[in-house]
Amino acid sequence: MPKGIPASGKRVIKVTAKRLSHDGKTMTVDEWAAAIGLTANAISARLRKGWPVCDALQPGRNWAPGRVFTTKYEVSGGREVQRIIAEKAIGKPLPSGAEVHHVDGNGRNNDPSNLVICQDKSYHRLLHVRTAALDACGNANYRKCIYCQQYDDPANMRVNRSAHHVQCKTAYEYNRRSK
Ligand SMILES: [Zn+2]
Ligand SMILES: [Zn+2]
Repeated sequence: MPKGIPASGKRVIKVTAKRLSHDGKTMTVDEWAAAIGLTANAISARLRKGWPVCDALQPGRNWAPGRVFTTKYEVSGGREVQRIIAEKAIGKPLPSGAEVHHVDGNGRNNDPSNLVICQDKSYHRLLHVRTAALDACGNANYRKCIYCQQYDDPANMRVNRSAHHVQCKTAYEYNRRSK
């Protein structure tokens, strides 16, 4: 029989139907892809490159093996230690999408008093925005203008994902056009 042709009657098993175990869960590549927000092809490509399963199943297009774990966070058994400690504290797995924040900004200080569980990425991001504001100007509610870089009361600003003074934006647009 020529190579590459399956024995008759046998269904060709798609690579994406392969089951992978990680984080105490076993799912197909397709299911993992849906869970972490990547395509099944992206996960398959990582596995073909010889990445360990725990790295292949990390969300984020720019993830590379060892990238965050060796620099920013402590890792044990392929998992971020702060997640393991947070799960011990609540006595169950973290809800999907949950992230663990380090209060003092040191990703390797996993003392339970330094950890805050965030229900999702946007809440986690908000904590970072508020911590930066508190450090910079003493008021966690203030936001930084992306044009003049000054912190101010959000009541004086336009706030979306970022914040700016209307007059700073006007000045910026004016300068850009007159160049
Ligand atoms: Zn954080
Ligand atoms: Zn401004």
